[in-house]
Amino acid sequence: MTNQDWRGAVIRNLLLLVSACLLVGLLSGEYAWALAAGLGAYLGWMLWQLLRLQHWLKHHQPEEPPPHGYGLWGEVFDSIYHLQRRDQRARGRLQAVIDRIQESTAALKDAVVMLDADGNLEWWNRAAESLLGLKTPQDSGQSVTNLIRHPRFKEYFEQNQHPDPLELPSPVNDRLRLQFQLTRYGNGEHLMLVRDVTRVHQLEQMRKDFVANVSHELRTPLTVIAGYLETLLDNADDLNPRWLRALQQMQQQGGRMQTLLNDLLLLAKLEATDYPSDNLPVAVDLLLLSIQADAQALSANRHHKISLETDFSIKLKGSEAELRSAFSNLVFNAVKYTPNEGEIRIRWWGDEQGAHLSVSDSGPGIEAKHLPRLTERFYRVDSSRASHSGGTGLGLAIVKHVLLRHRGRLDISSTLGQGSTFTCHFPEPQLLRR
Ligand code: ADP
Repeated sequence: MTNQDWRGAVIRNLLLLVSACLLVGLLSGEYAWALAAGLGAYLGWMLWQLLRLQHWLKHHQPEEPPPHGYGLWGEVFDSIYHLQRRDQRARGRLQAVIDRIQESTAALKDAVVMLDADGNLEWWNRAAESLLGLKTPQDSGQSVTNLIRHPRFKEYFEQNQHPDPLELPSPVNDRLRLQFQLTRYGNGEHLMLVRDVTRVHQLEQMRKDFVANVSHELRTPLTVIAGYLETLLDNADDLNPRWLRALQQMQQQGGRMQTLLNDLLLLAKLEATDYPSDNLPVAVDLLLLSIQADAQALSANRHHKISLETDFSIKLKGSEAELRSAFSNLVFNAVKYTPNEGEIRIRWWGDEQGAHLSVSDSGPGIEAKHLPRLTERFYRVDSSRASHSGGTGLGLAIVKHVLLRHRGRLDISSTLGQGSTFTCHFPEPQLLRR
């Protein structure tokens, strides 16, 4: 029946009841009493139905149907029952979906951890227990930075954005190497995925060891060859002039091989650890002053104008030797690639974002398409120009590595034909301001 049918039926029943009461009143002569008794009985019946409904709602078993009701009450009981069944079925379906998602994430080899906006643990899968040592249920609600106590992790977590993953040893097993990737979702909550990258890390380590060992092994024979060549060239007067030029070229190429091996060994050393071994305040202004003098010597009769502006009040925490090699690579590149009498400007300054070192030159510039790949090993814009300048192709790779170890980053901007600017940015925690 529709709503309207029910309304009609209720009115009809009430009219019937009132007419019956009036009839009884007509027969007995007591209209008021008959009407009151009839309506009282009706009210009592209504209350009784309401009590049955209330009793069933409170005490029924999940599958128990509602009590049998008459008329409109029967309809109300049935509607409530259907609503409940529909609700149960929807809940069952949702529970099945949740169970499936939980089962599949539990079966994942990667750890999945859900954190609230403050970084407190809300949920994690089984792999998180073995990889990170999380304990169910004790660790629930704990702050993730209390459980993964690595300074780099804390720093990574406190960043606003996490475009790159972070690699660290596992907090429960030093031999495991883990890769952390944080993603924000919802109202600032975090989803943390942790992968075991031990195997990739070992392969990478083997590659690094191989390069380091080969470079090291090649050094001794090369030193011997270079030594003999030098002795031979020292006695150039006794030599057949036909051999002189060949020997000079051999010595020059030998020298290039030696710088190449030195750069490879330096890169291997930089890659071996995440941090520089010393973390002392470095007076960048003095360092740049001595690099400027070396650059002037390198420029020699090419007459570059090398200017230097520094802020002596900002020191940089780190390894002086590493920073010297990074900064001098940038300055020497500027000297190498800028034509005679060109201008080179070195600046070291600070602002609210941190401190910055820039090396600008008035050289040939670099096409935009090369910029993203410039810090790759052996990447050269123009190999003939680079080999002519005696470059190894490793200079900017070394710069990038040194900066990474000092929490810095390299920014390169250039306009073809007008010059290039290489800027190193260092964040506040890496600085000491006077
Ligand atoms: P290289 O030892 O060959 O100089 P780098 O890694 O230092 O290797 O530099 C990579 C390439 O970037 C160089 O071959 C050169 O083409 C380009 N480059 C670097 N610095 C400059 C600069 N100041 N001006 C123009 N090109 C540059």
